[in-house]
Amino acid sequence: MLISKSFIPILKNNPSEAKIKSHQLMLRVGMIKQASAGIYSWLPLGFKVMKKIENIVRQEQDKIGAQEILMPTIQSSEIWKESGRYDDYGEEMLRIKDRQNREMLYGPTNEEQVTEIFRSSIKSYKSLPQLLYHIQWKFRDEIRPRFGIMRGREFYMKDAYSFDITDDDAFYSYNKFFLSYLRTFKRLSLTAIPMAADTGPIGGNLSHEFVILADTGESKIFTDKRIFELNCDNTKLDKSSLEQMRKMYEQYYAVTDEKFNKDDFEKIVNKENRLITKGIEVGHIFYFGDKYSKAMNTAVDLPGGKKDFVKMGSYGIGVSRLVGAIIEAKYDDKNEIMKWPLSVAPYDIGIIPMINKNDTSALEKANNIYLHLKKNNIDAIIDDTEENFSSKIKKMNLIGVPYQVIIGKKTEGDLLEFKEIGGETQNLFLDKIIKIITKQKASN
Ligand code: ATP
Ligand code: MG
Repeated sequence: MLISKSFIPILKNNPSEAKIKSHQLMLRVGMIKQASAGIYSWLPLGFKVMKKIENIVRQEQDKIGAQEILMPTIQSSEIWKESGRYDDYGEEMLRIKDRQNREMLYGPTNEEQVTEIFRSSIKSYKSLPQLLYHIQWKFRDEIRPRFGIMRGREFYMKDAYSFDITDDDAFYSYNKFFLSYLRTFKRLSLTAIPMAADTGPIGGNLSHEFVILADTGESKIFTDKRIFELNCDNTKLDKSSLEQMRKMYEQYYAVTDEKFNKDDFEKIVNKENRLITKGIEVGHIFYFGDKYSKAMNTAVDLPGGKKDFVKMGSYGIGVSRLVGAIIEAKYDDKNEIMKWPLSVAPYDIGIIPMINKNDTSALEKANNIYLHLKKNNIDAIIDDTEENFSSKIKKMNLIGVPYQVIIGKKTEGDLLEFKEIGGETQNLFLDKIIKIITKQKASN
């Protein structure tokens, strides 16, 4: 891709309406464009990053045996009346009428819709467990949409739903998602901690929020620092390994302010391990048993011939919010450098030739490098403008391409000036550069 031909509308300065760095940067480099309050168009740079996040989320859902479906954005009010939430949900729900005067709504979440799908086809315990997910736009008429796509009204979410017959089986499903969430956030190069959470309007009694630390986050969190030292790298997918893994995380105090109790905190956590800070909620999982299946008469045959309502959980990840969350975690404000993790970067490498009108050799060289990288599945962007060197570097730093190659006066023969964004320059042959990036990609 050539910058001159790309749709990357970069602004000279940070837009004044944006209060936090992710919102500023996303507007500044043209990742998104506001359409109306809390509603955005995604431009090429932002869309590319979001699609890469979406794919990682998808791969990790598939790995635990969840099956992808796609439910509509517009739902009928009937099923919401059955569950009793049509009235309960309140003003966050966007209600619409069609030409026949039927009450419809833009889905804020999909418990009802997925239960309706399940009950029409699954009749026996023999078909359980069922883990279904989709990645779809949601609409919530948030009272205060803010911080760009972090709290939008329209946003992109992965939501999954599990169906089992016993609590024990349902906890197994819950734990599979727990693990898949830890793995997903790790691949996005984020440290997300699972925190005991309130269940809110979804209902139920077991719930975890996955929160990443950030000063600009809206959740206040209280935790034992030692939770950051844990990892799930060697956890297997069998029931008892997953149980142990969740216990390992739950041994440490970690809650948001809704569940915070000062006396408990001070009693349970030693002074030197206490951490009170702010974070961004990037995922939320719930177990709510037969709350919806009972209300919506969703039962299956049991081994002995009896019937019982299925036990359900739901599992959300804010895919669009994650774009902003990664910026909050990775953007170096002081030096105006964004370093996207390679797993989601809009481009793998930026090629910066020093061009002047009388000498196009650097651009030719850049094009050759581009083609060679492409053959090796490395996605590059060439800054083919005639701007000066420092403004080109600045632009590339803002876009946040993790690696850069500079083709300047000092570039002789086949040795290239290569650097990781924000790092030291090295002189390397192209083959070596390809090796470095390919290896880094494979580790994701
Ligand atoms: P919050 O407390 O931030 O409002 P929630 O508890 O309402 O979140 P869920 O219903 O569990 O959220 O939705 C799952 C995920 O979707 C959240 O963890 C979050 O990452 C994302 N999300 C929720 N609301 C929004 C929003 N208005 N804009 C962007 N992402 C959102
Ligand atoms: Mg909410």
